[in-house]
Formats: sequence, C-alpha cells, structure tokens
Amino acid sequence: MNQLIRCVNCDEIFLKTPFDEWPEYESFSNPPLESFRSIERDDFQDFLKSHRGHRLEELQIIDDSLVSEKAHSEPVKVSYFKATNGKESFVIKKFREEIAEPLKYQFIAGDYSLKCMGIEIQHKEIAKQLGVEFRRTSIPQGKITAFLKLYRRVVEIIDIKNLERAPEESPNPLEVYYKLDDAGLAYLLRNCRNIFKGQEYLDIEEFIHRHKDDSVLLLKATYKIQVSEKAKLKKGVVPPSIPIEKKKMAEKE
Ligand SMILES: [Zn+2]
Repeated sequence: MNQLIRCVNCDEIFLKTPFDEWPEYESFSNPPLESFRSIERDDFQDFLKSHRGHRLEELQIIDDSLVSEKAHSEPVKVSYFKATNGKESFVIKKFREEIAEPLKYQFIAGDYSLKCMGIEIQHKEIAKQLGVEFRRTSIPQGKITAFLKLYRRVVEIIDIKNLERAPEESPNPLEVYYKLDDAGLAYLLRNCRNIFKGQEYLDIEEFIHRHKDDSVLLLKATYKIQVSEKAKLKKGVVPPSIPIEKKKMAEKE
C-alpha cells in the first residue's frame, strides 16, 4: 500500500511506496530495478531527515479524484488528485517534467474543478462521412457546408448540462463526447428540410439517426482543470522542537 505523507510545517509531500520497506538485497539480477529501489528508499530517509522535528501526517487519497491533462499512457504530464487528513481535503499535483525524472508530488491547499471551455461538432469527420455515404447520389459540397453550419447553430442553442455523455473513451481525458439531446435533434431535423428535399431529406434523416449516438455526430466538449488555491494563512507555531543538529549549530554561532 502506498502511503502519502505530508509535512504539516512545510506542506511538502512524500509518496511512500512498498519499495521503501524492502530490504536491499545485493543479489538482485536486475541492476536498474535494484538501484531504483534503493533510490526510493534513500529518498524517504532524506525526506525524514529534512523534516526531523516537524509534524508529519498521513493523508488518505480520495477515490476516483484523479484528473489528468493527458492520457494515462503519457509519461510526461500533470495530474491532480485529492487527499484528506480526515478534517480537511487538499489537492496533490503529480507531475514529471522529463521522461527520465521520477514523479514529483506537490501539496496544494485548495480544490480543483473542471471547467467546460467549449463544445464543438466534429466537422471534418462529418464532412468525410457524408462524402462517403452519399457518394452514389453525390451530395453537393454546398449542402455539406450548409449542414455543418446548421449543426453548429444547434450546438450554440443547447445546454451542455442536459446532454448525456457518450460511452466513447477519449484518448484525451479532458475531451468528453456527448450525445445530442432530443430537443437538439428535433431542431436539426426540422431545419434540414430547408436544405434537403425529397429522397435527399430521407437520406440525411437516416444518416442522422445512424450516427447520432455513437459516431461522427457526437459533440466534443473540451475541459480545463482549474485549481483554486486557498489564500495562505499564517501558520501558528507548528514545530514541537528544533532539530538537535540545528540547535547545536545555533549554540556554536
Ligand atoms: Zn517539514
């Protein structure tokens, strides 16, 4: 089990992994892994050393709170999760600036939320799909453009809060796909009658029903992680004692 340790005095964080507790056998066959283990172990000793005499507390990671800027498989990215000491909850920023670096954890007194930056139609995909499916009847380019314009107008008048999320997994965790709601669908179909006539209208109606739930007609919303940091309050005197070494040095001075 991983343990998340916070130094209350310094607001620094250390994620203690089970590796830390492993004895450092000399006979590991895989040298890089072994050195990785001893590095982790030393890191925790270093953390304890530099926070000697400070108040340390363990934080519990809040389930399902992880949000990330990039896909899980991306090694260089910034993610955030929430953790609590039982009384207050905090944000932990988890990041790596270069692929060879170990992950870093930063303590943030505050909260985060996801803000919707915009919702758009997949215009390139729709145009391509219309071109493919209407190849035999050869839909004029002007009508494709008119359809895209109409669909954008539909998106402008709908409220994202009423939309149902599509099950599609997006490679980017901050891009979420939504299904068009019934009101938007009705508006789209009604206005398609001004662009398409006769058989063409029947074809586009069928196209819309075929693709509205799981494909090119899904709407793409883009989110941004907004971290709000609490104004830093002046801390009371937390240290219970001055570390011995520092005391000695202070005496010498
Ligand atoms: Zn400290």
